[in-house]
Formats: sequence, structure tokens, C-alpha cells
Amino acid sequence: MNIIIFGPPGAGKGTQSSFLVNKIKMFQLSTGDLLRAELKSGSELAKQLKEIMDAGKLVSDDIINELIEKKISDPQVKNNIIFDGFPRNLEQANALDGMLKKYDQKISAIINLKVDYSILVKRISGRISCSICKKPFNEFFDPPIEAKNCENNNCESRELIKRSDDNESTVSNRLKTYDEQTLPILDHYRSKGIVKDVDAMQSINDVTSQIEAIISDL
Ligand SMILES: [Zn+2]
Repeated sequence: MNIIIFGPPGAGKGTQSSFLVNKIKMFQLSTGDLLRAELKSGSELAKQLKEIMDAGKLVSDDIINELIEKKISDPQVKNNIIFDGFPRNLEQANALDGMLKKYDQKISAIINLKVDYSILVKRISGRISCSICKKPFNEFFDPPIEAKNCENNNCESRELIKRSDDNESTVSNRLKTYDEQTLPILDHYRSKGIVKDVDAMQSINDVTSQIEAIISDL
């Protein structure tokens, strides 16, 4: 069984994938992790990758697909994969379908995490964290009232820091790209009848329960 966990940035794809990895021992495939692992491997491809990334260029779909094909064909993880953040566009979805077919596999379900964009913008643009203990807060949903809100008692003089790309215009741009390039994938898979909608506005645990129920029905 292979699954795609799908949804806009900030919908909780990574969080939900991690739960599934722990609970039902699936392999979480994210392209970021694949690239980092390959870079460490010292392979011929790692050298190429380092040059591309050092030059600030985007890694091509061909290279990404090569890394994904390695996993799809790997007896340790094949047919037990959660795709997290991939595919991002229709071309990648078609390439993935082709690779899976080649190794006698398919996607069993697309778990579609549905969240209101206004909430997403606040989730992402409100992210702040303690400069000392790194505890994450949210300006809108979980504001730190006093320094002792941190788990670490040595944080009295801490600053709250915000990543520069976690601002409202960056988030809106990411959602726009998602709408234009990633969302059409849903229609592609809806025509195959494998899209499963999940209300991702619920608590993390409730969302996990909805996903578990879907998977146990597959
Ligand atoms: Zn702290």
C-alpha cells in the first residue's frame, strides 16, 4: 500500500506522516529527506547534487525521480510508502504513476488534508520560537505570556524569534503556487476514485484518527 498525504503548506502533512510512520510502520518519503540522505552518501550523484545546490540552482525533476525510483524499487520500503510533499505538480504525478506501474505498485489513497487558507496564513505567519530553548509558539493560537511558558527555566531573558520567510506575503505566495500547480493533482486522482478528504481543522489527534479510519478501510 502506498499513500500520498496531500494538502497546502502548513496543513500538517509532515506531522501526520510521522504519526503514521510510528503507528503503522510506513516509510515517509519526502524529497528534502531524500536529497539530504543522498548528499551524505558520497555517491556520484551526491557530487552532482552538491554542485547544483551550491550554485543555488533547483534540483531537476529527473534527479528527484531517480531518487524516488530507488525507493519504489527498494525491497525494504517498496509498497509501504507515504509520499509527503510529492508530487507537487501534474508532471510529477504522471511520472510517479509510471514509476509505480513499472514496479507493479500503485497509489491506494490520497489523504487530502482540508484547511481554511485564512487559518493556514495565521498558523504559518504566527510562528515564533524561544531563542534559548527553541520552544515553538504561535502569536495567534498559542502566544507566550511570560518567559516561564518555556519548558526551560533558564529562559527568563529569552527573545522570541521569527523565521524571515514566515510572513504573510510569503505564505500567500506559497498558497498561490499550491493552487496553480499542486491542486490540479487532486482532479487527476479524483477521476481514479482514490481521493479521501479529511477535515484537517480538527485537533492533531482527531485528524490522525480520521486518517487511521481511512487506512483501515483500504
Ligand atoms: Zn525558552
